[in-house]
Amino acid sequence: MLGSAARHGALSVSCAMLALACSADPSAPAPSVAGPTDDGTATPAPAPVPAPAPAPAPGPGPAPAPAPDGPPAALTCLAGHYGATPVGSAAAWSLRLADGTTHAWDDGLPKTFDERLAQPDLQDTLSIPYAVGAIAPVNAKDHDPGRIRHDRMFKSAFGDAEAAVRARLVDVAFVGQTVKFHTKAAAALARVSTRLEAAIANTPSLSAYVTGTLGGTFEWRPIANTQRMSAHSYGIAIDIVVSKSDYWEWDKTPQGTFTWTNRIPQAIVDAFEAEGFAWGGRWYHYDTMHFEYRPELFDARCKL
Ligand SMILES: [Zn+2]
Repeated sequence: MLGSAARHGALSVSCAMLALACSADPSAPAPSVAGPTDDGTATPAPAPVPAPAPAPAPGPGPAPAPAPDGPPAALTCLAGHYGATPVGSAAAWSLRLADGTTHAWDDGLPKTFDERLAQPDLQDTLSIPYAVGAIAPVNAKDHDPGRIRHDRMFKSAFGDAEAAVRARLVDVAFVGQTVKFHTKAAAALARVSTRLEAAIANTPSLSAYVTGTLGGTFEWRPIANTQRMSAHSYGIAIDIVVSKSDYWEWDKTPQGTFTWTNRIPQAIVDAFEAEGFAWGGRWYHYDTMHFEYRPELFDARCKL
């Protein structure tokens, strides 16, 4: 276990750094401005009787009010991927999750990158566009598409406790071995495996990146002293072969600097991205073993 723990210890920082918690429900109804006086005992004044509506004037009359705008397209898109429902109005859109909680689309707060990581609204999770294509160094500071996650949305979609997620894990054949993955993402991972096997048939050297000792899939793990969970906690992430991978925390100097590094071949990345898996090698805070199922990042309708 020590060896495993040590290996995962390195990973745990990665995963812990990636996971996020939701903020307090910002969509809770605001207290009514009407109501009793301070001691709470006053009898409320009777509600004013509305004046009768005037009879409609003859003629064309005023133009009908325009229909209220619907929810932002990206919110509707996100809702579709996570079994949630847009609610509200143009003044304040929110997302009602399957667990009954409601969360702000845009909380209106100015945030630093670290604050968006720690307390994102739903819009923040889509705020950094994910781009596929030729692998390229990521030098733009904090360009981490997909690293901002809304933890409560994940809990609602995949399970809010270890046992709840574990009960929804299924076996997936992954390039010659069996791994546990969330039932909602299992078919996508199986398709990745099919793509990888085809790529390996053409280029056998690719096998070394995705067979043998993998970094792992499911592991329920909150960040220390927080309620924020790693993406691996939900059974939607896989770390491929660790010895072929690079991770910013391993490379960080005592001064805190690091330089994007990657050894994972393009064909491996392409196979995952084609099935909706975001790659940690697309991040300034690179984690090149890490792939997680985030179909919303690949859905054009979810673009802000
Ligand atoms: Zn990972």
